[in-house]
Amino acid sequence: MSLPQFKLLRPRSVEEAVESLATRVGAGDSPAQVPTPIRIIAGGTDLIPSMRQKIFEPEYVLDLRRVAAIRGIKPQPDGGVEIGAMTTLRAVERSDFLRKHYPVLTEAAATVASPVLRNMGTIGGNICLDTRCLWYNQSLTWRKGCGFCIKKDGDLCHVAPGGTKCWAVFSGDTPPALLCLDAEIEIAGASGTRRLPLRDFYTGLGDNYRKLQPNELLTRVFLPASMADYHGVYRKLRVRGSIDYPLAGVAVVMKRSSNGNSIRHVADARIGITAVNPAPLLVKGASELLAGRLVDEALAEAAGDLAAKSSKPLTTSALTPEYRREMIRLFTKRAVLAAAHV
Ligand SMILES: Cc1cc2nc3c(=O)[nH]c(=O)nc-3n(C[C@H](O)[C@H](O)[C@H](O)COP(=O)(O)OP(=O)(O)OC[C@H]3O[C@@H](n4cnc5c(N)ncnc54)[C@H](O)[C@@H]3O)c2cc1C
Ligand code: SF4
Repeated sequence: MSLPQFKLLRPRSVEEAVESLATRVGAGDSPAQVPTPIRIIAGGTDLIPSMRQKIFEPEYVLDLRRVAAIRGIKPQPDGGVEIGAMTTLRAVERSDFLRKHYPVLTEAAATVASPVLRNMGTIGGNICLDTRCLWYNQSLTWRKGCGFCIKKDGDLCHVAPGGTKCWAVFSGDTPPALLCLDAEIEIAGASGTRRLPLRDFYTGLGDNYRKLQPNELLTRVFLPASMADYHGVYRKLRVRGSIDYPLAGVAVVMKRSSNGNSIRHVADARIGITAVNPAPLLVKGASELLAGRLVDEALAEAAGDLAAKSSKPLTTSALTPEYRREMIRLFTKRAVLAAAHV
């Protein structure tokens, strides 16, 4: 499948990038506006296949690879860390600082796709990743043959016929880990930069899945010092262990009490899930369930039940929804036990 024609823009700074976006889309365009005349490319590992499938046919492609200011992992004086949006997943996976202080993130990054794709793919691209569906991530001919759907060019949903919502699933691996770590993101646009918690970035809609205007770009990710040194575990279900997107993913972070006893209760914990809803999310009630308790099989199982309740997999992906929900339950149980016994 060939790429559609486009003009490539290669800014050298965030300011230049913002100007390029503002010139092409204006300040007031709605994020639901389809098609946008310009698309941002970072590593291109998700965007390029989608452009080949004619899911996106932008007139301009804005390449961020020359914007050095938003690449790199910078530990902060207060103990937190700043990660540039253009930092590759390989750099995240290999960072000694992140592995020591935020291990759930390096573990999740190491499961994305394959080493070659992680060399190109960035953390910004992983956070902004388009939602996926078996009826959407297909060639134009295939989609045309099925009469299209709400997410692109049509008005019905093949997954939930009769409804008006798109349920395409968010399938990035690092966002559940970042959510557990209370990550904040920085977004730059014509009116300046804004910083928001990552948990407020996703909408829960499959088609209009993120709160990012077409004239904005993600520039940085911040992890707070308060979440450093939590034990972290990431578990992922996929068809081919060497390369596939997650079909269910669970991140768990946990801190245990340090009162000198050999019996150590959970002081704080979070559970994040991905690939089973249109947005990655923190499991509600997980911190309350685990805090102050000793982790045993029964408690880990209860955490698994809670996570399974928060997941609503549909027929957007390979493997059945029932199996994927069951794997969320099982992976959560295993991840909670593993995090408690590190
Ligand atoms: C075979 C294959 C397997 C894969 N397996 C996985 C997997 O297991 N787990 C997983 O998480 N992903 C997987 N991916 C998807 C992809 O490789 C990763 O998600 C990667 O992190 C995407 O980053 P990128 O820099 O390549 O993004 P790009 O492809 O460049 O961009 C992705 C999207 O984000 C937008 N974007 C990128 N950067 C910014 C920014 N700074 N500001 C605003 N918007 C931005 C783009 O416009 C585009 O919509 C797979 C891809 C392939 C082809
Ligand atoms: S969930 Fe429905 S509307 Fe969304 S991409 Fe799939 S088929 Fe299309």
